[in-house]
Amino acid sequence: MTKKIALIGSTGSIGRQVLSIVKENPWLSVVSLTAHTNRELLEEQIIEYNPRVACLTGCDQPPAAPKVVEVYSGADSIERAITADADIVFVAVTGFCGLRAVLAAIEAGKTVALANKEALVCGGEIVMAKAKAKGVEIIPVDSEHSAVWQALGFKRQGFKRLILTASGGPFRQAKTCEMRHFTAKDALAHPNWSMGEKITVDCATMLNKGFEVIEAHHLFSAPASSIEVVVHPQSIIHSMVEFDDNSVMAEMSVPDMRQPIQLALTYPERLPLNIPTLDLVKLSRLEFFPLDREKFPCFDLALSALSTGANAPTALNAASEVAVNAFLKDRLGFTDIARVIEEVLNKTERTEMTYAALEYTDAVSRRLAMQAADRLGK
Ligand code: NDP
Ligand code: MG
Repeated sequence: MTKKIALIGSTGSIGRQVLSIVKENPWLSVVSLTAHTNRELLEEQIIEYNPRVACLTGCDQPPAAPKVVEVYSGADSIERAITADADIVFVAVTGFCGLRAVLAAIEAGKTVALANKEALVCGGEIVMAKAKAKGVEIIPVDSEHSAVWQALGFKRQGFKRLILTASGGPFRQAKTCEMRHFTAKDALAHPNWSMGEKITVDCATMLNKGFEVIEAHHLFSAPASSIEVVVHPQSIIHSMVEFDDNSVMAEMSVPDMRQPIQLALTYPERLPLNIPTLDLVKLSRLEFFPLDREKFPCFDLALSALSTGANAPTALNAASEVAVNAFLKDRLGFTDIARVIEEVLNKTERTEMTYAALEYTDAVSRRLAMQAADRLGK
């Protein structure tokens, strides 16, 4: 078996873990790499992984590379990385830009390994319809969705209920009245996972779990009413599936993203992986709690955007990108993230579901979110 990977977003937390799997498996190779701003790391990766194409999407100057490598720069170059010889496109960028990459990969008829949840949050209907029409498989990489897929025996249907687990994030035990005092440093201290900054803050607000409900809705054609969230602080069970006879299948392992990443690349095979084995006796207990929806209003905002449908989830995502960015720069309080999102959702006018309309919604919502963040901010 050999597999050629187009890796979109190679410099991030997921992208670097994809490359660590490539390094350990000589039958995997990289045909293209993209980064946004991290020129230095991209140039190191080009030397080490020897792609045919390399793109720096957030800069005017392409990366330095040996003459045999095609190099590009600018936002439009992301599509150059979806090369004809790629067997799989691994979308590991963060944010709305993932949608563009996913749609281009599907258009080219490529299997997609999808870490970028925003593509489904914003454009789930378009992505899934286009993938179906093109006969393209979207392989989930997000740990909860990979767990559901694994528990279903790599199928997408045949369940009664999906039970997504949430670690509860760093503020699981905080009181509601304490929430407004938390800083970026507090929010970035995730108890179980080491991830990019945006998703780490989204775990602290629980917006991430709302995104994951939307993601599961699209990946498994599951109505929101059949998706439940339970807080499980140990993050050992990555999610569960309940069948008609009330039997429940859980997927478990130590929390390590290399498991769903490698599986997305080796599927339908499972290959050995160098992560610790599960020691249930040492662990001794697994706990479960309800999600405190009053303390984490971002979760309900995501569910409300899902129920509104159309471009509302795109507005939700754009507002969250702006609000989290302002929070990380200490220009907005932690609890004001939800206020910015709510304000933008309330002002969003419904559009049709085309990529162009979503791009427009993304731009308008960012502007609205910046205004709200300036007004509510410090
Ligand atoms: P990071 O912030 O660590 O990495 C983001 C990557 O995307 C970097 O390569 C970055 O480039 C690139 N990028 C950022 N903005 C743009 C843009 N506008 N256009 C093109 N490329 C861009 O994020 P993560 O790796 O943590 O997350 C990636 C995705 O996977 C997210 O959607 C996240 O929700 C999802 N995910 C992540 C998990 C994790 O464990 N990290 C778990 C489950 C899902 P550069 O660094 O060069 O600027
Ligand atoms: Mg997840």
